[in-house]
Amino acid sequence: MDRVIVAGGGLAGVRAVEALRGKGFEGALTLVSAERHRPYDRPPLSKAVLAGDSDDTTVDTDWAALDVELLLGDRATGLTLAAAGGGGVLATTAGELPFDGLVIATGAAPVTLPGDGRQHVVRTIDDSLALRERLVEGARVVIVGAGWIGAEVATTAARKGCAVTVVEAADTPLAHALGPEVGALTAPWYAEAGVGLRTGVKVASVGDGHLLLADGGRIDADEIVVGVGVRPEVAWLEGSGLDVERGVVVDASLRAHAGGAARPDVVAVGDVAAWWSERYRRRLLVEHWDTALNAPEVAAATLLGQDAAYDAAPYFWSEQFGRMVQYAGFHAASERMVRRGDPADRGWAVAWLTGDRLDAILTVDRPRDLVQARRLIAAGTPVDPGALADPDVPVRQA
Ligand code: FAD
Repeated sequence: MDRVIVAGGGLAGVRAVEALRGKGFEGALTLVSAERHRPYDRPPLSKAVLAGDSDDTTVDTDWAALDVELLLGDRATGLTLAAAGGGGVLATTAGELPFDGLVIATGAAPVTLPGDGRQHVVRTIDDSLALRERLVEGARVVIVGAGWIGAEVATTAARKGCAVTVVEAADTPLAHALGPEVGALTAPWYAEAGVGLRTGVKVASVGDGHLLLADGGRIDADEIVVGVGVRPEVAWLEGSGLDVERGVVVDASLRAHAGGAARPDVVAVGDVAAWWSERYRRRLLVEHWDTALNAPEVAAATLLGQDAAYDAAPYFWSEQFGRMVQYAGFHAASERMVRRGDPADRGWAVAWLTGDRLDAILTVDRPRDLVQARRLIAAGTPVDPGALADPDVPVRQA
């Protein structure tokens, strides 16, 4: 393999470059990315950057040593795969780039709402800096979506003295991610922080300085922030023959497929990849930092013809209303839920189990629980559900 292109310069893109070089790839390496910035971390964009505590989250890496051609401000627009022998040509705004190996790392883009009024999203550093300017004392800020990003933006906006309302279509915050029962446990945090929370409210469109609601109502706002989820950036792959089901379909080795057949010369990582998890026996599309950080090691090994599989239990954190919220595992098919501690207290957790196996845990200001549980989840070690329900007993093996 002489020439590898990485499409997308987020965390997954830069980690792919580092992993390829780290594994001894000495051929030509090009990274093409739509943003003009060098790869940077996104988690601080809704936290420290928005709060004004940080202006720059560029990933610290030695570009000279990596010997990469950086095409920043250019995007991949199409892909032609060679039928035999592998490789192909990536069409980009900088011209056609032939390759032997391709890493797809184009991430995801925020979903926006209909309407021609101004709506902020928080995906890029430019988004975050632009919104930061607007979060001034007394500004009426309406946030659509009580998900992870919505809660983080609400936290910062309220701290800056804005009059904040969060509008959520579901009946509780985080209903989609955690289910309504657990999501409801976070609802009091909004009132405590002086943030208005209106659940069960569907927004129809964004107008000039207001939201129109599906029930005919209207909410006026100085700033409207939309945090209703993201879509993988896959439009540019149309017509390429690669299998796409919401994200790029990849197997446990993160190899892409075309017409059901593996393409050993194309891998996908990060928010754009829908990977087959052997652990959960299903396809996962995990839009979290930890996956973008670690999956590229496996993708690079696969591209270089080594045996590798990505089989991590997902991990995620969020900082909301002064709390550190962490989640590890996957609970969609779990048999039951165990509460650990009282949600009225500062720190508590919820665990999901199948039999005596821990599937997933959500911790609120209990980082030790998270670390211990994450180890047990990864190893599939049995736990004692009775002990798990007692917050004074460490999370441990049965
Ligand atoms: P991205 O970061 O989306 O990078 C993809 C890059 O590819 C972008 O620069 C994009 O412009 C570029 N691109 C897109 N299309 C093309 C194209 N056609 N051609 C070339 N380039 C293209 N995760 C956590 O676990 N915890 C958190 O607290 C957390 N907070 C977050 C806060 C915010 C505000 C955001 C936005 C995300 C947060 N995340 C968090 C999620 C985490 O940041 C993402 O999972 C991670 O950034 C995914 O990295 P990626 O490289 O796959 O994709």
